[in-house]
Amino acid sequence: MLNNTPLIDLHRHLDGSVRLNTIIELAQKYGITLPAYTLDELRPYVQIMENQPGVMAFIEKFRYMTAILADENCCYRIAYECVEDLKQEEIDYAELRFSPWFMAEAHQLNASAVVEAVVHGVQDASREFRLPVGLIGILSRTYGPETAWKELQALKTRRDDLVALDLAGDEINFPGDLFVDHFKMARDLGWNVTIHAGESCGPESIWQAIHGLGAQRIGHGISAIQDRVLMDYLQKHAIGIECNLTSNVQTSIVEDYASHPLKQFLEENIQATINTDDPGISAVTILDEYKFAESLVGLTAEQLEQAQRNALQQAFLSDAIKKELLARTK
Ligand SMILES: [Zn+2]
Repeated sequence: MLNNTPLIDLHRHLDGSVRLNTIIELAQKYGITLPAYTLDELRPYVQIMENQPGVMAFIEKFRYMTAILADENCCYRIAYECVEDLKQEEIDYAELRFSPWFMAEAHQLNASAVVEAVVHGVQDASREFRLPVGLIGILSRTYGPETAWKELQALKTRRDDLVALDLAGDEINFPGDLFVDHFKMARDLGWNVTIHAGESCGPESIWQAIHGLGAQRIGHGISAIQDRVLMDYLQKHAIGIECNLTSNVQTSIVEDYASHPLKQFLEENIQATINTDDPGISAVTILDEYKFAESLVGLTAEQLEQAQRNALQQAFLSDAIKKELLARTK
């Protein structure tokens, strides 16, 4: 980056970061049908070429990223490569998130085995590339609360290898109220909590994430700007907002980059951060997102650095490791 503050991505879906050429290679190896087998021809099926009408239309793009997860070795490979890509982007620390049920679904894999493979892939690559990575488990709202218990059970098998639990998916039809007990258990297990909220729904969904689920950070949180009391609450309680600019433009949550509330969050000293969400689908890097933040959202150099400092503060890391990270990039 342009300064000595660590470059951090706190919101990146491992299962939304699969390389195009890996999709093709694994499809050929396991005999999985794809609509195309060259990078250029496959690209429009996997990446966003024009903005989508909403989050669920965006999620459709994951189809071929999970279709090629034929066994645990494939899960290991995409996890490993995801960390290798972080290194390529010169990221100093990242938190990767994944939904084992979502990854297991296409080939009916065992969800606990998926968790095991992802943990190993991330840990091996993290060691190999000397890049610290935190893993966040996701419960997919879209499968409903019953399946979420099974998903939680699978994630629990590697309790000490995860730093937090997240809730993602269909925010409109599966509100956070359905998952209160799941997140109580997660907190009892010692995990941190971050929740996708205020992306498709209004500020009430963010309040629910904070008070009902114990969210320390909010993924997206766009609708917070509709609620003055909530904005003050986020600032006062240092609740992090994981912004994902390109993703929000592509899902039509914001009209364009210029209308994104990131700048307002920062001006009000809310701990907003800049992240990539699904770089494999959005075709962006963390540096792209910082560039868009500067040129299209209008952040000043100070605000860009403020976002970086927020990410360090909001990272699910001990203070000692944060200090180490800071020392390394100085
Ligand atoms: Zn996300």
